[in-house]
Amino acid sequence: MSAPLALAELDSAPVTSEIVVDDAALRADDLMARYGHLDGVELLRALFTEMPGQIALVSSFGAESAVLLAMAAEVDPAVPVIFLDTGKLFGETITYRDKLSKFLGLTNVQTFKPDPVAEAELDKPGTLWRDNPDACCHFRKVEPLDRAMAPFAGWITGRKRFQSKSRAALPVIESEGGKLKINPLASWDAKQIAAEFKRRELPAHPLVADGFLSIGCMPCTDKVAPGADARSGRWAGMEKTECGIHLSRIPAKRPQRASKHLRELENQSIYILREAFARLPKLAMLWSVGKDSNVLIWLARKAFYGRVPFPVVELDTGMELSSVYEFRDRYAAEWGLDLRIENCPPVEDIDPSLPPFARAAARKSAGLQTLIRREKLNGVIVGIRRDEQSTRAKERVFSPRSNQGDWNFEQQPAEFWDHYKARVAEDEHVRIHPLLGWTELDIWRYTKAEGIPVVPAYLAQDGVRYRSLGETNITQPMESQAASIDDIIAELEATRAPERAGRIMDHEAEDSFERLRSNGYM
Ligand code: SF4
Repeated sequence: MSAPLALAELDSAPVTSEIVVDDAALRADDLMARYGHLDGVELLRALFTEMPGQIALVSSFGAESAVLLAMAAEVDPAVPVIFLDTGKLFGETITYRDKLSKFLGLTNVQTFKPDPVAEAELDKPGTLWRDNPDACCHFRKVEPLDRAMAPFAGWITGRKRFQSKSRAALPVIESEGGKLKINPLASWDAKQIAAEFKRRELPAHPLVADGFLSIGCMPCTDKVAPGADARSGRWAGMEKTECGIHLSRIPAKRPQRASKHLRELENQSIYILREAFARLPKLAMLWSVGKDSNVLIWLARKAFYGRVPFPVVELDTGMELSSVYEFRDRYAAEWGLDLRIENCPPVEDIDPSLPPFARAAARKSAGLQTLIRREKLNGVIVGIRRDEQSTRAKERVFSPRSNQGDWNFEQQPAEFWDHYKARVAEDEHVRIHPLLGWTELDIWRYTKAEGIPVVPAYLAQDGVRYRSLGETNITQPMESQAASIDDIIAELEATRAPERAGRIMDHEAEDSFERLRSNGYM
């Protein structure tokens, strides 16, 4: 028998891959056997009942999209509808999305856009569609779709067999890239679609009247000659016929799958989030917009099938980097968050006996106290980790607090075998820490594996980067050449410098962070 690994070896052990069973393929076979004879509304009703909240509908809001959207809305108007705004669409499509959603009563239309960092890197002049349309479609459509689909087991598409040779054998239910794909209109022909459009009195896309019969991005869509194939106007004059979201992905281009260790952490965090949601009726999640809380939002979207079901609060001192505010506004909209911005009181209102930087940091504790009292919250979800700082290492997953936020670290409940104490007295609340067992490396490896967006300030520019994001008056960047997430992972594997070395308030007095935390800091 080989000797067990020493702790130091475990720390540096590489993340190993494992044999992956394609669960989606097995599930597709099973669903196909039971529901493959259905189509349209009947198929959607069966699957929404079997897998509530687990399937999203992906729609371009194009020429024929209204039929499938109307069927889905008839079964469940709250079905998640994913719309990819490539930045190259016709203005008419955006207007039509809003008009049609209102007409059908759809309540959960989620718009996803390309990553602005990738856009700046790959397509600054905006002409990639002409020079390399596959690369253009990849970052404008394929990558945002992967991000959008992360919380879901499968997606509904509007593809039909009659549309092209490559779609002639389209099954009603299939799997691709680890997700189910459901094609309720696979067997429908153009006449049936037109008749259904008329029967339901659906509003038409305004460009159809001008001869656009299949509508995608403006530079890649032409009018169709009378009698010609509807998709002949897409990428006219090029060999390209598909944007890529329906093509089998080349494995090397897909995000690396999370390791077994990361999936165990993910499962545990999802379990904690669901426990908190089930047991605490007045719940909110803090979102600092840093790497940890972005993972937390990502996990919450997975835990609740795409929609975070409680308010997400940013405690704002007005002192964050401008890129933090840009990221917050963009992804709050994209992820459909119920974002609340809690303005923190000025530093003059904070305990003057605290050292200066700790006093500035304590503005957030004061903002949080106000929020908890005003909203009568009995649960606050926070993305802290044990390995960040020794005071946080003493924490519990469900950590009871007074409504002042006071933390009695000498009187904490035991947490054996994932049994958590979520009961609270009237004058108490619970801090819930779903990431407590994660390490900084776990966070970055998971961010990489899942393709989670991050604030660009984490990536080195001019020889420095932020390792821990905080307000500009109390946080400093560190020297680094890590300009990508792979570089950050390599850097962390080699460094012995503490993560919060750039947080000035941690170091100005021996007990300043402990004082902050025992008085309610996160
Ligand atoms: S359809 Fe054209 S513009 Fe749109 S993402 Fe693809 S190549 Fe780019």
